[in-house]
Parts: sequence; C-alpha cells; structure tokens
Amino acid sequence: MALVSMRQLLDEAAKGGYGVGAFNVNDMEQIQAIMEAAKETQSPVIVQASRGARQFAQDRYLFHLILAANELYPEIPIAMHQDHGNSFETCKSAIELGFTSVMMDGSLKADGKTPASFEENVEVTRKVVDFAHERGVTVEGEIGVLGGVEDGHGAGGSGLDHITDPDQAVEFAERTGVDALAIAIGTSHGAYKFTKKPDGSVLKMDVLIAIHKRLPKTHLVMHGSSSVPKDLQDIINQYGGKLKETWGVPVEEIQLGIRNGVRKINVDTDNRLAITGAIRKVFAETPEKFDPRDYLKPAREAMQKVVALRMQQFGQAGHAQDYKPLPITAMIKGYADGTLDTRPSVVGV
Ligand SMILES: [Zn+2]
Repeated sequence: MALVSMRQLLDEAAKGGYGVGAFNVNDMEQIQAIMEAAKETQSPVIVQASRGARQFAQDRYLFHLILAANELYPEIPIAMHQDHGNSFETCKSAIELGFTSVMMDGSLKADGKTPASFEENVEVTRKVVDFAHERGVTVEGEIGVLGGVEDGHGAGGSGLDHITDPDQAVEFAERTGVDALAIAIGTSHGAYKFTKKPDGSVLKMDVLIAIHKRLPKTHLVMHGSSSVPKDLQDIINQYGGKLKETWGVPVEEIQLGIRNGVRKINVDTDNRLAITGAIRKVFAETPEKFDPRDYLKPAREAMQKVVALRMQQFGQAGHAQDYKPLPITAMIKGYADGTLDTRPSVVGV
C-alpha cells in the first residue's frame, strides 16, 4: 500500500462519519507507538511532522521512518502531513520530500508569530493550493488564530483572541480551494489550554457547527485538541514533575465536532505527557537503571495506549480496510477536472 492522499482519507472519514487523529512524530519511538496503535485498532492514520520536528530529526531521517512504517504496515492507510507550514517554501519542500499533505498556516506571517491579514492569508494559501493540487497533494489552511505556542509556532495569548468568523471562513474556502480548514474556536496549543473545564463561554462549538453548515465539503480540523487527562498529569507530578493544574478539550466536545464536520483532530500534548510520565516513573522507581531502552520502551507503550484510545474515541478504529489508496495520478486528475473541487459556489451551498 502506498502512502495515501490525506484528501482521500478525509473523504472516506466523511462518508463513514468518523474523525481521524493526526499524531505528531519526531522520532522512531513515536512513529512505532502510532503505527502499533493503528494496527491494534485497524485504523487509517495521519502522521504529521511540524517544522520543529523536521529540524529535530532532519528530513531524511523522518522520511525514512515514514517509509519504514509504510513497508511494515501495508494494511494501514497512512497520510504524511506537514503540520503548520509557515511559508510557501516550507510546504514546497515537504511536497518535494514526499509528504501527501501540507498545512499552509497563513493565519500567521512567516515568522510563525505575528497574525497575518486576511488578504495575505488568502494569497499565500492559494499559491500553495495551486502548487500542491497540480501534484495531487492535499492542503489544509487555517482561518482565525489559535492560542498558545507549540514548537516555537503560535501567536501566544488566549484561544479567544481571534475566533474564526464564519463569513470569512466561507470566503476563504471559496478563494483558496483548500481541502481542509483549521478553525479557531477557543482552543490553544500546548498543555495549558483552559484554567477550568471548558464550557460554551470558552469553547465555541456553535461557531464550528455554523461553519460546517456553510462548508459541507471542506473538512474541518481541530487543532490544540489534546484532552490533557488528569491521570497523565498526575503520573508526571507523582514522580517529581511540576505541572500546573490544567484542562484540555474534553473528548465529548471533539465527538460533537466529529458529528459536525470535523475530520482531522490534532493530538500532540497528550502523547508528550504519556511519554514523560512513563520515563519519570522508571527514573523515580529504579534510579539504578541507565539503559535507554529501560525507559523508552514503557514510554512508547504509554503513548501507544493514548493513541489507540483516541482512535477508538474518534471512530477511525476498524476502518483501515474500507478502501484502497488512490494513486497520486488519480488525485491530480480529480483536481484538474474539478471533481475534487470543494468551493462552496461549486458544490452549490
Ligand atoms: Zn496546530
């Protein structure tokens, strides 16, 4: 099985009425955890690398880790996605490396910090869409600005600073032709998302529902959607960590999103917490150990458990064998002849 286009994977998820977790990879243990979870639950999967990951691991290492996953798990559809591309050049380099999907986050300027204007966002995203679709590659855009900072990327501040305006989302989808759209509904990157269990005053699910009604063919993406479960926080603090009390996005809210057009859910923090907790536990309980495998193995298992649970909760479990990946040439043809066009004026809403 070849790597699959993220567009095909999300179209299938829409048909099946489920969401697909997009899990970040930086090293071998993380991709092993993701792929074992996908095998265990028979899930299609999105593996994504941020710019920070590409710097940390180097492109060639990352690319070959993905190729190895593809060889070892031929029954699992895998989309390889660039998370938060900051410029046309970053997205172009990911496409040339063999990624099947890119995010052009034009909500921020290329410094990855300063909010960009709507016109700037449209312009750079449209340029990436033209380049990517000619090559059969999927594009995720972003409208509105998420809170927090992750891997040096983000405007900081609260998730409520720049909530997506549904009218702008429709105009953006029309003018760019993106396949998937990340929207800002109050979530933030990182562990510190909410200071109490989020309700409608801080998590704007009504905005998401309004956007989906007007953009039924554009797959919605939830970023900053780790649930930051208390048991994972507790393990870290029990073994010497100092995390402040915090709340993530409850799984029930994500499931409500999935019933309303959310097809891709980004999860990174929960996996980071699971890994760190498992390593701290080994260090605290058996300080005489010094073989990295003694703590990397439980770390990998802890992450696999979180990923497998999310795959079940998002509904992607059991869907690995539903379809055959289309060749990239079929995607190129679909974009060229208009059958993959999602613009609201074309799909008639
Ligand atoms: Zn993100």
